[in-house]
Amino acid sequence: MKATVEYIEKKFEEFNRQMFAGKLPKLPIELSNAKTFLGQCAFKKRLTVFGKVKLYDFRMRISTRFDLTEREIEDTIIHEMIHYYIGVNNLKDTSAHGQLFRQMMNSINERYGRSLTISHKITKQQKEEAHDTRQRWHVVAVIDFKNGKTGIKVLPRIVQRILNYYNKVGAVSEVAAIRLYMSNDIFFNRYPNSGALTATFVERETAMSHLADAEKLQCDGKRIIRTK
Ligand SMILES: [Zn+2]
Repeated sequence: MKATVEYIEKKFEEFNRQMFAGKLPKLPIELSNAKTFLGQCAFKKRLTVFGKVKLYDFRMRISTRFDLTEREIEDTIIHEMIHYYIGVNNLKDTSAHGQLFRQMMNSINERYGRSLTISHKITKQQKEEAHDTRQRWHVVAVIDFKNGKTGIKVLPRIVQRILNYYNKVGAVSEVAAIRLYMSNDIFFNRYPNSGALTATFVERETAMSHLADAEKLQCDGKRIIRTK
């Protein structure tokens, strides 16, 4: 599922009551498309007249880039709420996820059966299960190798780069054929998009099933012609 602002606000209130004795003031919730973090508790810093650092203008950001389970989204919200609790109460910790953070996290995990971690990032396993689900148009090259293997390559939508790849890879002696497609299937989001002369081996049936509705591009080595 993907979180909405309303959903996060509702969960914030629920966990605030349950785990933080309702003591956390409401804060602005922002959705983000970041792929570098799942959640973030952002704030500004200023010096008080007594020379102390004060944190203010707290905001909670939750990334909606990945399709996570409800539990993972909840754990992300609670993780950020711990940061917020420490920040808004001006508590000192030994580091960003220091002794105090871990103490609170462990006690929440134990008391409420949660699985919070100190990572803001998506785990490798989560990444595999929950790849990027935004629909975008890709140029996909399918390479048939003479040994029967199939490779694919997601190319930038730049004519010169596509022609360069098509001509150079097509001229490699191990390559039997190269074909180009235009597809917006999210299956191809997981592959790096570049003009590098590389390919990823795939199972032919899997790749072709994701190209069933794709537009075939004709190429004569100098031009790319759309067929639809
Ligand atoms: Zn954190």
